[in-house]
Amino acid sequence: MTTHTTRMLIIGSGPAGLSAAIYGARAGLEPIVVQGLQPGGQLTITTDVENYPGFREVIQGPWLMQEMQAQAEHVGTRMLWDTITSVDLSGAGKQGMAFRAVGDGGDVYEGETLVIATGAQAKWLGVPGEEQLGGKGVSACATCDGFFYRGKKVVVIGGGNTAVEEALYLTNHSPDVTLIHRRDSLRSEKILQDRLFANPKISVVWNKKVDRFLGDPLAGGLTGVALTDTVTGAASEIETDGAFVAIGHAPATELFKGQLAMDDGGYLLVEPGTPKTAIPGVFACGDVMDHIYRQAVTAAGTGCMAALDAERFLAEREFAAAKEKVAG
Ligand code: NDP
Repeated sequence: MTTHTTRMLIIGSGPAGLSAAIYGARAGLEPIVVQGLQPGGQLTITTDVENYPGFREVIQGPWLMQEMQAQAEHVGTRMLWDTITSVDLSGAGKQGMAFRAVGDGGDVYEGETLVIATGAQAKWLGVPGEEQLGGKGVSACATCDGFFYRGKKVVVIGGGNTAVEEALYLTNHSPDVTLIHRRDSLRSEKILQDRLFANPKISVVWNKKVDRFLGDPLAGGLTGVALTDTVTGAASEIETDGAFVAIGHAPATELFKGQLAMDDGGYLLVEPGTPKTAIPGVFACGDVMDHIYRQAVTAAGTGCMAALDAERFLAEREFAAAKEKVAG
């Protein structure tokens, strides 16, 4: 069991955490990144990335994350492979190592500031074929993967804002988008529903749940979805080239329950326009506090903001302490 101390403790190693690390390291804060269960975050389970600025050619998500990690380490970040199992923020306001986290092997991590970049996970249906055909026709992100279905037929599963927005977005690429919902009404905002119903490229299939994704991962990928009618129980199939599961995301905030404020969906609440939580010295960035944009580039942006604010927080605290010393 070891105790690791740092001026900036970062939990999470997706684009938000690693961008915070790059900025924190360059500011001399010698950050520690605790990588978590999925080092590199959600991008490590995507394949082609075409919308991260700076790359003309299609790049691979895992490669991008390796590069970000290498850059973070190159400028002085310590990357530690551990999963945090508990966090104690009760030292807020204390000088020195105010925030404490414990890893699953018992190692202790103490930080003068804490950057939470634990991300979110797309929820999946958990039906046969979904995992096997992931990246081979089944996706949970239209903005990431929609472009690969130019001119093809796609379906979107879900009835909330995400599903409707994804269906609308996909019409930029696909002439034939079907929204499949398990009930007979949508829960998304009315304005989005109006746009959806007015779009001639979109049709809605009501009262259907997806039982299975059809196709061979090794030969052509997804070919269709098998459905059951939730009212009559009748079985049917729809042929499709792409299926986008849009049934919500789950932010990884379990560790912070009772210590930091969250919205109804479990996302951490921050001061609007900043990554500041209600506890001075604790910052949240990336998908753990953003249920709207959820892009690698926006996560990287808020990670940068968190590091800049952490640096300012420490500088102001040091300035105040020095002033007190002089006055005393
Ligand atoms: P929601 O929880 O709002 O909607 C999830 C949808 O998926 C529901 O329609 C639900 O069906 C359906 N669903 C859930 N589980 C299953 C399942 N196992 N099988 C089939 N269908 C299922 O999630 P969203 O991601 O849409 O939105 C999350 C939050 O983010 C919301 O607060 C939303 O308003 C917000 N958001 C805001 C946006 C914006 O302002 N532009 C954009 C995107 C999201 P049912 O309706 O039957 O429960």
